[in-house]
Amino acid sequence: MIAHLHSEEQLAAEAVSTVRRIAFKDLAEGDQTLIRAALDITRASYSPYSGFAVGAAVKGRSGRVHVGTNFENASYGITMCAEVAAITAANTAGEHTVDTIAVIGHKYTAPESVDQPVTPCGRCRQMIAEIAQSGGTNVRVLSCSGDLSNILETTIGELLPEAFGPASMGMVDQWTRTRPKLAAAVDKLKRR
Ligand SMILES: [Zn+2]
Repeated sequence: MIAHLHSEEQLAAEAVSTVRRIAFKDLAEGDQTLIRAALDITRASYSPYSGFAVGAAVKGRSGRVHVGTNFENASYGITMCAEVAAITAANTAGEHTVDTIAVIGHKYTAPESVDQPVTPCGRCRQMIAEIAQSGGTNVRVLSCSGDLSNILETTIGELLPEAFGPASMGMVDQWTRTRPKLAAAVDKLKRR
């Protein structure tokens, strides 16, 4: 009897959970396209140390797709994840509201050996939470096994509940309001 250990809030959260396992063929066409983009970009992965290629694809509100792949480092600790690369690419392209992110990983020495969903690491969850809160969306996260046999559909709210972010600091709209000032400052500098 474990149920009594759960608070009413926890039980309510579980009741509305949208976490689900889904087969690739049962996904909407747009999600399949996004996952294929994430898989395709793993060709560019720089992963000599782990031998594990990860790709991420972000779909923004504009409908555009922004991709990224992991970029490892000999010092290991400063290795960049695919999700960081994809979100940074979206931001660089002026895409500030994210609808969905797809993540996929595989061991390229044995391409079909990873049959479990590759979910975002802790740091990446924090980064997704930032763009989710600042963009006002509960970003959907599609975590995929390298062989596409196992896909986990969740939201960032489920992967990182009660996240600390701009909302915690009352700053959700702060950057939206500031962005025109930033652009004006750049324009002024360019005129010098
Ligand atoms: Zn990560």
